[in-house]
Formats: sequence, structure tokens, C-alpha cells
Amino acid sequence: MVPARGKAFGRLGVGELVDVFNNTVKGLRGKTEVWCHTCWGNPSQQRIFREVQSYQPTLAALARVDADAITFETCSSGTGDLAAIGEAIRDKKVVIGVIDHHTLQVERPDQVSALIREALKHIPAERLVISSDCGMGREGMSRRHAAYKMVAMVLGTNIVRKELGLPEAECLAADPRYVLSLTQSR
Ligand SMILES: [Zn+2]
Repeated sequence: MVPARGKAFGRLGVGELVDVFNNTVKGLRGKTEVWCHTCWGNPSQQRIFREVQSYQPTLAALARVDADAITFETCSSGTGDLAAIGEAIRDKKVVIGVIDHHTLQVERPDQVSALIREALKHIPAERLVISSDCGMGREGMSRRHAAYKMVAMVLGTNIVRKELGLPEAECLAADPRYVLSLTQSR
């Protein structure tokens, strides 16, 4: 765990924490895909900081992390760091969050697709992975909200997949045959 401010345990700087991470996962990438998750925290679904934080001071260190993929909050923190992320992270998958884990308002698929298009300006599709900003299960969000957010994530990603000529992901949860409430009269 990297502290947002100060040194971990009062003495470990960011460079040393990268060494700890790399020692911990040494040899693991030969057996599985290693992901390094980053986020700005989610205590009781609240932001920790009043202002949106920037990844930019940490990108050089993150580029040294011995992982196949690194996740970034880009929904709740905005897209301001995408250019710098694309510049700094060149040999790993870049995982962007398109779903906010702090809010109960379910994102629309077109919001998700707009964010993905923005990311594609800086990160090639071959290395871009779509995810949520952070986990949604640990704190107060209901399963229903989380489920609909995941559906929006898939539908929004499919919009861009279609534009790129890529196969769309099946999304049974959005199939009208399985809806619990009818949205149009017969
Ligand atoms: Zn997280």
C-alpha cells in the first residue's frame, strides 16, 4: 500500500515501495498476469481529498512496477492525466476506470464510450483495458447499483468496440428477454 502523503511506515519512499512490490511478485509474471491496482481510496464511499489528485508525480515510479497491467482511476478523477499516463506507461496494459465507485448514479453507456474514446487518443487499443475505478463491494453501494454500473460499462465499451470493428461482448443483463420490469407496453 502506497501512502498518498508522507512515507510508508515513516521511512519507505515511493522508489523503495516499488522495490517491495517487485520483490513480492518476482517470477510471478511467468505464471500469471500481474496487475497493480491504484486508486485514491474509498472510505465509506467518500473521497479522501477535497481536490482531485493527479497521478503525474507517481508515473515514473509506476512505469518501473513489474506488472503486466496498471489500473488508474479515470472516471471519478477525470481524464486529465491520460496524456501523461500514455506517455509514461509504454510497455504495460493501461487499465482505466470508467465507473465511479463513489456515486450511486449509474453511468450511461454513452458516458463510458466518451471516456474510452478520450483514452484511445493516448493509449493504443491493444494495451487499453476497461474496468471500474475501484471495487464497489467493500463499502455502502448496493449490489443492484453495482450490477447496473457493470452493465453500463459493458454496453459503453461495446459502442467503442463496434466503432473499431472489434467483436462486441455479450451482455445478457442488458437483454430485454431478462429484464425484471417491462419498460414499454405491449
Ligand atoms: Zn481501489
